[in-house]
Amino acid sequence: MSSPLHATDLQHVWHPFTPHSVYADEHPLMVVAAEGHWLIDADGQRYLDGVASLWCNLFGHRRPELDAAITAQLGRFAHSTFLGNASAPAVELAARLVGVAPAGLSRVFFSDNGSTAVEVAMKMAYQFWQQTGNAADAKRTRFVTIGGAYHGDTVGAVSLGGIDLFHEVYRPLLFPTLQAPQPYCYRCPLGLERTTCNVECVSIGERMIAEHADEIAAVVIEPGVQGAAGMVTQPDGFAARIAAAARAAGALVIVDEVAVGFGRSGLMFASEVEGLEPDFLCLAKGLTGGYLPMAATLTTERIFAGFLGRPEEGRTFFHGHTYTGNALAAAAAHATLDLMPEVLDGLPDTIAHFAERADRMRALPHVGDVRRYGLALGVELVADVATRAAFPSARRTGMRVCTEAKRRGVFLRPIGDVVIVMPPLTITRDELDILFDTLEAGIEVACG
Ligand code: PMP
Repeated sequence: MSSPLHATDLQHVWHPFTPHSVYADEHPLMVVAAEGHWLIDADGQRYLDGVASLWCNLFGHRRPELDAAITAQLGRFAHSTFLGNASAPAVELAARLVGVAPAGLSRVFFSDNGSTAVEVAMKMAYQFWQQTGNAADAKRTRFVTIGGAYHGDTVGAVSLGGIDLFHEVYRPLLFPTLQAPQPYCYRCPLGLERTTCNVECVSIGERMIAEHADEIAAVVIEPGVQGAAGMVTQPDGFAARIAAAARAAGALVIVDEVAVGFGRSGLMFASEVEGLEPDFLCLAKGLTGGYLPMAATLTTERIFAGFLGRPEEGRTFFHGHTYTGNALAAAAAHATLDLMPEVLDGLPDTIAHFAERADRMRALPHVGDVRRYGLALGVELVADVATRAAFPSARRTGMRVCTEAKRRGVFLRPIGDVVIVMPPLTITRDELDILFDTLEAGIEVACG
C-alpha cells in the first residue's frame, strides 16, 4: 500500500463497480506484473489469482503461446476497421468459432465485452421480429429472463436483471422484461425447501413464457449457473426446460455464456452440458484467454437472413464499434482455441480436486451454502448457519474475508457475502490447496 501509484490512483481514477468511500480501506492491489497464476504488486508481493482476473484468464498470465501469437500479429498489423470491411484474423476466427459452437450457429458478430455481446443479441432478436413482415411478429417486443441474473451493464443488458445492483434511477430506461423465479434454493424466492420443492420455479417460468407467448422476442438464459448473481446453480434440466418453453412459444433463445463458456463447466460450452441449441450464443471473457477485450455473438442463418435486403429498405443491423474484430484480440483468441483441447483434457482432474475442497468447506462455521458448477464456486457466508440469518450488510463480511485472504497471498473478490472462487483452468492441485487453505483461514479470522 505504500506505492506512489496508489496516491495517483486515488487522485485520478474512478474504478468500475467500486464504492470509492471504502475503496482505499480494502487494500486494493496495484499489479505491476504477473506470472502464471500469480499477480505481483508494486511491493513485489505475489498473489494467487483466485478469480482469474475477473473470470477471464484461462491459462495464466504471460502464457508463452498467447504472448507469441499477439507478438506475431503485431508484426503484421494491430487493427483495421471491420465496419463494411474485413481483416484476416477475425474472419478466420469466425469460422473456427462456428466449428466449435453448438449446432445451427453459423454467423459471428464481434464486439468488445460481455455486455455488448448480450446487447447485440437482444437488439438482433428485437429487430428480427420487427422486420419479418408479419404484424403478429412485430408484437414480440419483450424479453424473459431468470430473476437476479446479471447479463451486463449496458442499458439493454441491465434490463435483463440484476437491477438491485444498480441505482433505481435507471428503471424508466429499461426494456420490458419478465422475470421467471430464480432457482436460488438456499433462499428460495417461493419459500420452498430444496427437498420437497419439485422445482416449482421452472414450472412457473414455463407457464409465464406460455402465457406471454405472443409478446416474447427472446428468452435469455445463463446456463448451469448464474455467476454474478452469486453463483446460483440451477437444478438439473432447468436451462433445457426454459429453452424448450421458449421454443414452444415461438420465441428466440439467447444463451449467455460470457462467464461459463470456454471450459468453466468442464466442457467447452455449458450449452453442451445442458443440451441447448440456442439462436444466439454470447461469448466474451475467456475468448481471448483473458488477454484482450473481445466478444462474439453467434447466431443462425435464419436470423441473418432476416436482415438482408436492399440498403434503402433499412433492414441492416446498425451496430458496431471502432475496435470490432480487432486483429490482436483475434490472434489471442486463435491461440486460446489452439490451447483449449489439451486444457479440457486436464479439467476433470482439476475439477475433482476443486469439488473435494469445496465440499469440505460445508463443515466450517459461518459457511451457509456451497454452490459449485464445474470450476466455479460460490461460498455463501451467514451469521448463523442454523437460521441462515445473513450478516448485516454494513459489515461487508464477504469483502473482509477477501481482504484477509489477500493479506495471506490469495486474490479473491466477493459478490456481497458470497465469496467467489473462479481460478484459471490450468490451476494446479497445489495451488488449489493454497487457495482453499487461505480462504478457510480468511473465513475464520473475518467471521469469527
Ligand atoms: N454476462 C455474464 C453472464 C457475465 O458474468 C458478465 C460479467 N460478469 C457479463 C455478461 C458482462 O460482461 P462484461 O463485464 O465483459 O461486460
